[in-house]
Amino acid sequence: MKSIVCLEPGKLESQSIDKPTPGAGEVLVKIKAIGICGTDIHAYGGNQPYFQYPRVLGHELSGVIESVPEGSDLKVGQAVYVIPYLSCGECVACRKGKTNCCSNIEVIGVHRDGGMCEYLSVPESAVVTAEGLEFSEMALIECLAIGAHAVRRAEISSDDTVLVLGAGPIGIGALQFSQVQGAKVIVSDLSEDKLKFCRDEFNVAGTVNGKSDVRAELEKLTDGDFPSVIIDCTGSVKAMQSAFYNLAHGGKIVFVSVVKADITFNDPEFHKRETTLLGSRNATKEDFEHVVSCMKDGSVKGHSIVTHKAKFDDMIELFPTWVNPETGVIKAVVELD
Ligand SMILES: [Zn+2]
Ligand SMILES: [Zn+2]
Repeated sequence: MKSIVCLEPGKLESQSIDKPTPGAGEVLVKIKAIGICGTDIHAYGGNQPYFQYPRVLGHELSGVIESVPEGSDLKVGQAVYVIPYLSCGECVACRKGKTNCCSNIEVIGVHRDGGMCEYLSVPESAVVTAEGLEFSEMALIECLAIGAHAVRRAEISSDDTVLVLGAGPIGIGALQFSQVQGAKVIVSDLSEDKLKFCRDEFNVAGTVNGKSDVRAELEKLTDGDFPSVIIDCTGSVKAMQSAFYNLAHGGKIVFVSVVKADITFNDPEFHKRETTLLGSRNATKEDFEHVVSCMKDGSVKGHSIVTHKAKFDDMIELFPTWVNPETGVIKAVVELD
C-alpha cells in the first residue's frame, strides 16, 4: 500500500509498505481523510518534543472499517474516526480516568506510525463511529477535541470572558467551545488575516493584534476587568508568559501549546491574582463525544476552518507550502479515494 514517511525533518518520501495485518482486538481502517495538524508541521520542521524519525505522520484520521475482530459490535463498512491516543489503562493517570495524560501514552503518528497511508490497524477501543458527518469533517474531530478539553479543564461558563491566544485550528476550537459554554471570547494573534477570519466566522467580542499594546486593548475590551480565563494555543514563550500579567484577578490560565523551554513569571503577579495555572494535554473520549454532538447540532463549525484540501498523491509537493503562513493555511485536509 501507499504511505508517506517523514524520513527526517524537512524530508517526506512516498514509500510502498505492507498492508497491516490486524492483531488481536484490532480493527483495520481504510483511511479516507487526514487532517494536517501543528504536530505534523512541527515534526516536519524538527521542533516537536517527544519525536523520533523515520515516522509515518498523521493522527487526525477518518475512514471506513475494513475488518473487525471477532465478537465486535463494529461492522465492516462503517464510517469511523480514530482516537489517536493509546493509553495503558493501568498507570496512576489512567486509574483516575485521565487517559489523555497516561504516563505510558502512545500517540498514533507521534510515538508509533500514523495514518498517512491507505490502511491502519488500531485497537477497537480507538475507533468511534460518527454517521452523518463527512470524512473531511471527521478528520477535524481530534483537533477540535483538544480545544474542547482545554475549555472543560477551565470549567468555563457564561460568566467568563475568555482570551484565546493564537488563532490556529486549536485556538479556533478553544474559541468555539468557550462560546458553546456561553462565554464572551476575545482572540489575539499576530496575523491580521487570522483575526479577520475570527471576526467574520465567529461572533467574537473582540480581537487584539499581538503586536499592539495588548494589555491596554484588553483593559478597554473588558472595562478594566481583564479576561477571567486565558487559553494559550500559540507555541510562543512570550505569549505564554504574557498571560500571567493580562489575567483578571481570580482567573485561570490554560497552557495548551507545548514549548521546548522554561516558562517564568513574577510570583507577586501570580499570587495577587490567586492565579490558577492549568496544563491541558490531548483529550479524552468524553471530549471527542462532545465535539461530535456539537458538530451534529451545528453549534461548532468544523468545515469553516478547512482552508486547503489535497489529494494524497499531491501531499508531498504541497506539504512544505502549508508550513508557510503566507499561504493562509488554517487547516489542510488530505483525502484518499
Ligand atoms: Zn492534531
Ligand atoms: Zn496509563
